[in-house]
Amino acid sequence: MTAPSHDLSGRLVLVTGATRGIGRAVAVAAARAGAELIITGRTLGALEEVDDDIRAAGGSATIVQLDMTDFPAIPRLAAAIASRWERLDGFVANAGMLTALTPVSHVTPENWDESMAVNLTGQWHMIRALDPLLRAAPAGRAILVSSGAAVGSRPFWGPYAAAKAGLEALGRSWAGESEHTNLRINIMNPGGTATKMRASAFPGENPATLPTPEDIAPAFLTLLSDDCQHHGELLSAREMLDL
Ligand code: NAP
Repeated sequence: MTAPSHDLSGRLVLVTGATRGIGRAVAVAAARAGAELIITGRTLGALEEVDDDIRAAGGSATIVQLDMTDFPAIPRLAAAIASRWERLDGFVANAGMLTALTPVSHVTPENWDESMAVNLTGQWHMIRALDPLLRAAPAGRAILVSSGAAVGSRPFWGPYAAAKAGLEALGRSWAGESEHTNLRINIMNPGGTATKMRASAFPGENPATLPTPEDIAPAFLTLLSDDCQHHGELLSAREMLDL
């Protein structure tokens, strides 16, 4: 099935974890669809390369070097957006990390804390800081990027699975609170996608057998568009695109 094309002209979209993988592809696809981007991640050089890609796609981006564990930096980012744009049209909560795969009883406190900070607590800080800006937009859209690991049982993925399950619960509550607003808040399961994270988790897998980040990016554009009809849903990029 061909993904519908979406016009994001004039919309301001923030993508976290945009230095590579899914976040990078979503940011470039959103720019190609006309959006102005704010891109975040820890690696400045990689953000500059993505900025180059966005310019080549005819768009523009503002780079923000942000570690999701630097919680005080998050309201500062929101304040900067408020003073410059007074609103945010789209938020893609994509930044995520996978700690060492190990039995729950062997997880170190450091690995537990890092997974929770990046995959859950930092996401809550972002929601808390950005919610007023999304509400100030005519059609605010948020996508929380989760994983199939959040449901069912996946041995050795405990801290990641627990954080993503928490993120989904947080997203459902946030969506429920926002039913009577212009916001559309959804949770996206990208499905296995050929990225650095996937390769580290499945080193024996041939990435050519997986969808690329560019293949799945159109599903994100659907949820960012002003005619998005989904709200409070857990969506599969593969199902949305028949991949
Ligand atoms: P990836 O290639 O490893 O990219 C992860 C991104 O998150 C990078 O841009 C990275 O940027 C950023 N990030 C990691 N730790 C960070 C931190 N402490 N602070 C700020 N940014 C941080 O992974 P991906 O596969 O594209 O994953 C993107 C999202 O999809 C994640 O939420 C992941 O859980 C989810 N997901 C992926 C798959 C898959 O098969 N690939 C499946 C299900 C769900 P820096 O390192 O520059 O900070």
